[in-house]
Amino acid sequence: MGIANSVLDAVRTEMGRHPGTYPCKIGVRIGEMAAIDQDALRFCFEAMILETDLSSLELAIEVCPRRHRCQACAREFVVRDYDSRCPQCASLETVCISGDELELAYLEVEEYEPSAVGEKSS
Ligand SMILES: [Zn+2]
Repeated sequence: MGIANSVLDAVRTEMGRHPGTYPCKIGVRIGEMAAIDQDALRFCFEAMILETDLSSLELAIEVCPRRHRCQACAREFVVRDYDSRCPQCASLETVCISGDELELAYLEVEEYEPSAVGEKSS
């Protein structure tokens, strides 16, 4: 619930910067290690925007794979099956550089059409 809340906060902050527009789609990036249940997030999000001015906002969730960087050769690679060994030099000295993020990837907005407001209810 807290996550859905912070996503919505981010949307509202962003909307404050773009007066005269309304949000139609928000993209959120979640690291696969962030232990966030996508379905739960979507459920909370939809429950929270219900009957608000953001009720038509669509949530798009993008999952980012876990990435490591090799300390020996600086290669960055995607970790699969928990195998964090460097694919280039086989070093085990690798560090996690991403995979636990939760961030706003993008926000699609549309401009209000003053003449059409209130005429779209069909
Ligand atoms: Zn390496």
